Amino acid sequence: MLATVLLHGVIKVSPRRSMTRAIATFWMLSCLAISGSAIAASPAATPNLLPAESQGVTQAPPPQPINWDRVTQEATDLLSKYIQMNTTNPPGNELDAARMLKEKFLTDGIPATTWEPQHGRGIVAARLRGIGKHNKSIILLSHMDVVPANPKEWQVPPFSGLVKNGEIWGRGSIDDKGPGVIELMAMLAIKRAGILLNRDVLFIATGDEEEGGKNGAGWFVDHEANVFADAGYLLNEGGGIRALSDNKRKVYVVSVTEKTPLWLRLTASGPAGHASIPPAETAVTRLVRALDRLSQYDTPIHVIGPVQDYYHTMAELDHGPRQQLDLDAALKDPEFLKQFISDPAQNASVRDTITPTVLSASQKTNVISETAYAEIDCRLLPGSDPKTVMTDIKKAIGDDTIKIDVILNFPPISSPSRSPLMTAIGTLAREHDQAAVVPSMIIEFTDSHYFRQKKIVSYGFIPIEVLPSEGKGIHGINERIGVKELADGIQRMVDFLKIFGGQN
Ligand SMILES: [Zn+2]
Repeated sequence: MLATVLLHGVIKVSPRRSMTRAIATFWMLSCLAISGSAIAASPAATPNLLPAESQGVTQAPPPQPINWDRVTQEATDLLSKYIQMNTTNPPGNELDAARMLKEKFLTDGIPATTWEPQHGRGIVAARLRGIGKHNKSIILLSHMDVVPANPKEWQVPPFSGLVKNGEIWGRGSIDDKGPGVIELMAMLAIKRAGILLNRDVLFIATGDEEEGGKNGAGWFVDHEANVFADAGYLLNEGGGIRALSDNKRKVYVVSVTEKTPLWLRLTASGPAGHASIPPAETAVTRLVRALDRLSQYDTPIHVIGPVQDYYHTMAELDHGPRQQLDLDAALKDPEFLKQFISDPAQNASVRDTITPTVLSASQKTNVISETAYAEIDCRLLPGSDPKTVMTDIKKAIGDDTIKIDVILNFPPISSPSRSPLMTAIGTLAREHDQAAVVPSMIIEFTDSHYFRQKKIVSYGFIPIEVLPSEGKGIHGINERIGVKELADGIQRMVDFLKIFGGQN
């Protein structure tokens, strides 16, 4: 069990440890929300192992200042090394990366452990103990796997981790190794400075996110839920800081929900045979007709709360089109609707989408295949019922001989827009950037849904600025993050944890 491992990690008092550390450790122990039997099980918890001077200490020493130059250099080196570990998924192979991150935590005395859900696949978790007995802990989530990169298209080799012109280049620098490094380094900085938070911080880095998370977050939630049983909150990829069009003011965009995949396979069948004597109808002609009908089917427009709120806030802050102050009402005007949905991202934010992506039938030109299939990537708004969507799709196709199978689907779950976590992000936004916070929905999906299912308030928010204009190559070419951006991200994350951990 991780809990035991972690406990031992915290209370192991090394002879080389400074007096300050020992006092802090003693104080932390006396305040830890752990069971009596857990304390008794650990010999290090007995007071006689502590220096005499520490007896009766009730207050921790003041935190030490953080050496930001050192943190930045270390984060840069770590991210560069992390990028060099090729975790392209498939196959993922995240285990080495998981071990490296574990070692990084252990070196600083933060207990950490790894799992191998499938051969070569990796998950790592670490726990920075706080002193809050009753405060729910927060998970900082990231994923170690990356999408493929074609070196021919890149200006630098995508797995070089090259530091060039003040930027760290490579696949994963933003999605999602950079954010993982920000989370890790923030925890190390807090530990080294001796800042005591009133809640635990749990770092979890999974694999397999890019392929749906079955061998990553999904496995973890199914098999090791006890590791995060005390967690009430979670931060993950999916949101960040955006500059407004005046390029001066900023807004913190926090994703509280995401669209859900409903991946379907449509299979048509018909007589097999030679293409020189074709029957009137084949599996392929049937499938083509079904797809044609499906492409003419328009899903209903529906503006959900976080989308309405997002456009409202952006229209106010960024002087966007007046209609966006009340998007739901504005979209009833056919002219405005037409213009609004001409942008694919905007279109996807107000309706379910249905997209054929895979087609397969005969492998030979002159052979009529008995079956033909298409895979359809449907993305549903939170609130859309998959069963209803499938019924509508069947109706649109109008051919009962087409078999429809679900390849992937999970229940759409949102986190509340108001929570202590949102309040803390709001405080960070105000204090750091005089910025506003806006809840939103993302049209992609992340691993957050696995934790939302466990009733953990999960937000997509990493405190870095990603310019929408360049997107910095996420899933594309020349993905990279500025060293300053990385350093600012760590500083903001430290401040966030201090706010949410009651030290600000
Ligand atoms: Zn990602």
